[in-house]
Order: sequence, then C-alpha cells, then structure tokens
Amino acid sequence: MKPGTATQIATTPPLQTDAPTNFDLAVVGAGSGGFGAALAAARLGARVVLIEKSDSLGGNAARGGVNNWEPGVGGTGIPFDLYKRLKRIPQAIAIYKFGRHYAWQGPEVNPKFPGGEQVIDPDARYLDTLRRFGAPPLPQAEAFRRAHWHGVPYEPEPYAAEMERMLAETGRCTVLTPRAFTGAQARGRRLESLTLDDGSTVTARYFVDATADIHLARHLGCRTTLGQEPRTRYGEPSAPREPNDRLNGTTLIYRISRRDKAAPAIDPLPADIPSRCWWADSFPHAACTQYPNGDYNINALPVMAGRETASLGYLPAYAECRRRIVAHWHHLQSVFPEFQAYRVVWVAPGLGVREGPRLIGRYVLTEHDLIAGLSGQTHDDLVTIADHARDTHGADTGRAGTGELTQPYGVPFRCLLPSEFDNLAVACRGASFSSVAASSCRLSRTMMQLGQAAGTAAALATQQGLDRFDALPSADLRASLKAQHVELSWPRPPELVAYLHHEDA
Ligand SMILES: Cc1cc2nc3c(=O)[nH]c(=O)nc-3n(C[C@H](O)[C@H](O)[C@H](O)COP(=O)(O)OP(=O)(O)OC[C@H]3O[C@@H](n4cnc5c(N)ncnc54)[C@H](O)[C@@H]3O)c2cc1C
Repeated sequence: MKPGTATQIATTPPLQTDAPTNFDLAVVGAGSGGFGAALAAARLGARVVLIEKSDSLGGNAARGGVNNWEPGVGGTGIPFDLYKRLKRIPQAIAIYKFGRHYAWQGPEVNPKFPGGEQVIDPDARYLDTLRRFGAPPLPQAEAFRRAHWHGVPYEPEPYAAEMERMLAETGRCTVLTPRAFTGAQARGRRLESLTLDDGSTVTARYFVDATADIHLARHLGCRTTLGQEPRTRYGEPSAPREPNDRLNGTTLIYRISRRDKAAPAIDPLPADIPSRCWWADSFPHAACTQYPNGDYNINALPVMAGRETASLGYLPAYAECRRRIVAHWHHLQSVFPEFQAYRVVWVAPGLGVREGPRLIGRYVLTEHDLIAGLSGQTHDDLVTIADHARDTHGADTGRAGTGELTQPYGVPFRCLLPSEFDNLAVACRGASFSSVAASSCRLSRTMMQLGQAAGTAAALATQQGLDRFDALPSADLRASLKAQHVELSWPRPPELVAYLHHEDA
C-alpha cells in the first residue's frame, strides 16, 4: 500500500467523508489481534471495518520486525490458516530449529556465539511449533529445546499482503489505512461511533480495541494500569514488593544479508556513536533467526529499557535505538568474525515495544493462572491457550531470566472486556493481564487468537441479536472457536492433530 492513501480492499462500498457508515464490528489496529478479530468476524458473516493508522497490516509482527512466531501451544486457528497461505509462496515462511547458543558452548569455544542462533529446518512441520512448556532452565535445557522448540520465521511483506487477501476474500471487510480514530462517541455503557482523522464517522454495533497500547479504551476512560503491580495486589510470587514503572525492554530489530562479492569487513562506526555498550559492561545477547532465504533477523535483548522508551516518547526512542543498534552491529562484527561476511540491509520501521498500558477488565489474568495451568483453572470462558514463559528482557525489569511453565494455561474471555462498556473488547497485548502474565501472554499467535475470539464473539452476538458481549453464552463462543480449529485444551485432541497433519502435508 502506498503511504498517504486510504485503501479499500473489499467489495463493501467505500466510506465517504461526512457519510456515517454502519458496521457490525469496528476494529481499531491491524496488528495480530486486530487481524484475527476482523477476519474471524467477517468469515462468520459480520460486516467489518478495520482501521489501521500505519500504511500496512501486521503491526509488530510485520512492521516491528518480529518476523517470527515463537514456539507455543495455541496457534492452530487463524495463524495456521495464514501459515498455509504463506507456504504456497516460495521462501515466504519456514520453520526453525536451534543452532548455536552461548549457554551450550563449552570453555573451548572462544568467542562464544553472541546469543542464540535459530536456523531453518526443512524437515520440521507446523505441529512441531506448537509446544514450549516443560523446558528445564538454561543451561540444562539444550536437549529439550532442540527436540521441542521450533519457531516460524517469515517474510514481512508477503505476510502483510496475505493478511490483506484473506480479509478481502471474505467480501465483508473494509480496511482503512492509514487511518486513526480521533474521537469516540458513547451513550451510557455503549460505544456508538468513532470519528476518524479524515473527519468521517464509523458506526458499529461492536468494537474491538487492538491498538496494543489500548488507545481506544484509554480514550474512553476505562480503568487501566502501567508498570509492575506490587505483590500485595494479586499475591503473585514474581511481583515486586512495591509498585513501580518498570516495563519489559524495547528492541529495534534489524536484518542482515550476506555480502555478494565484497570482502568481509567490519562496517565503520560513525564518529558520534560510541563503541561501548549503552548501559552495562557488555552488549546484550541477540536472538539471530534465519529467514527462509538465509538472511538473519537480529533481535538484541533488549536495546532500551521499557520505561526509558515510555519517558522518551516514541520518535526520540526510535532515534536513540537506531544509534544503539549501529553500536550493537559493530560489536557483533568485532567479536564474531563470521558476521563480517554480512551487512545490514533493513531496520524495522516500527520500534519493538513489548509492554505498555494494560486494561483492568472484568478478570485480570495473573501469575496464579500461569502456575495453575489448564488442570487447575476453573474458568468456563477460556478462549485461547498459551504456554510461553514469564519472560522479561533487560535488567531494568528487576526480574531475572525466564520462568518456564509446566503446562499450558487458558485466557478467559473476560480479560478482553472492560467493566465500563458492554460492546467493547480489547484484543491485543494491552488486554487485562498483570505485568507478569503479560510477559507470557503477549506472543503474536496468542494475540491473533485473542482477536479471533473477540471477532467470533461479535459475529455470534450480532447473529443472536444481542447488544452486549457478556450476554453471549461462553459455550457458544467456545464451540464456534473449536469448529474453527482453535486449540482450547491439553492434551491436544487427536482430531486436531489429524487435522494439522492433513492440512500441512
Ligand atoms: C522486540 C519484540 C520481540 C518479540 N518477539 C516475538 C517473537 O519472537 N515471537 C512472538 O510470537 N512474539 C514476539 N513478540 C511479541 C509480539 O510480537 C507482540 O506482542 C504482538 O505482535 C502484539 O500484537 P498486538 O496485536 O497486541 O499489537 P500490534 O501488533 O502492535 O498492533 C497494534 C496495531 O494498532 C495500530 N494502532 C495503534 N494506534 C492506533 C490508532 N489510534 N488507530 C488505528 N490504529 C492504531 C498500530 O499501528 C498497530 O498496527 C515480540 C515483541 C517485541 C516488541
């Protein structure tokens, strides 16, 4: 899509300025959560508008450079559909296995690999990417991780383009880019319409806030929070004693490619960029993930403390991270000569922000849910399952390393529902999670499935003539998600395994 144009990609008539347009569902933000919501609802017959402020779809999973789905349960509904589409395009998507890792290299290896390496595994299948839980802590975890952890690297442009096609094929989704909402009109507990930055108005029966930083919910005055809750709030074992403003670290991701014919070299460091690390004695480790074409995605963990990003503001934080990754790349090439055969070919246009404001909704997912897991949770409205570790980046978060889980846990639909409104759901990393739970729950495929749940709920509620999300029986929502091949239980049902095998042939 060309910047500066509002794009209509479906068969529904274009919106016209000054002409209020009525939809069953309006979704704000077209990242993982927003895409899942819009597609699920449109596939079930709802008339949907998807409003995205940047000029392309995919959010952090495309523009933010996170061109990789981490291993984990869930991931079987819309993410699998997207995977199957991308598999038809040469070098658009693949599956990785672990290569080298500094924690698994003995003293005889010098220098050690400056992080973790993930390389394409042509023999792995999608099913292999659907589990993380059960890993012992580093460094003992090598055998387990090599056996069980496979992620899904992909090219961001076909990823975003395929999202557009999938939405367009429904014939019921209008995508507006680049468009942001500038106002919202509510009556009592109902949100009625949004004003967009071109002056137009969008009216809908249901709304989904998928803006990551929950701009719509905050604009409407919903109860939200930022930073780490104290242990006294929810009794979480990993929570700090006092509340604080610490946030999971920020990363600006970059891509490297082999030099064609040029001799290996260390790229020069501009005079105004220091060669020393910006915060501690050593540069952060990096996750170096191979793209299907052999390039590498470099994700330094992290480049900036989350609260520094929040206090600087987005554009100054992006500029500072841009400087820091030049120093990081210089460091990689200096300590590890193999990188001298590569050059930087791309820097993500979006800053990778892992954590921001979060809703305090009708239920707050906490570390207790993560620890209890599916075998201990008693909620009847679980709509997504996940098993990623409690996972923060950067010493500033005050939490050491990762806390792997022993079984998958579920996310209740109530985590998406603000207490203040009946027809609004929040389906993005800013949903109702504690800071500890958010560090686990935030992965791209999990967000896409939260979106799938919200979109499905909006479509079913519309079909049933309901005015509020919470009037929809949970059993109806879960039954529809299961019919869409969304994984909601563990062990994985044999029919789901058979479906995944069959479809991934
Ligand atoms: C550095 C980093 C590395 C990560 N690594 C991995 C990984 O390896 N694997 C993995 O699975 N996950 C990873 N994650 C997590 C995951 O990528 C994100 O948490 C997830 O993609 C967030 O999805 P989302 O839908 O909540 O938000 P986003 O993808 O951020 O989407 C929000 C969208 O809303 C739009 N928007 C914002 N405001 C407005 C507005 N006012 N009007 C209209 N649109 C608006 C934005 O432009 C954006 O497109 C990583 C995250 C980071 C930051």
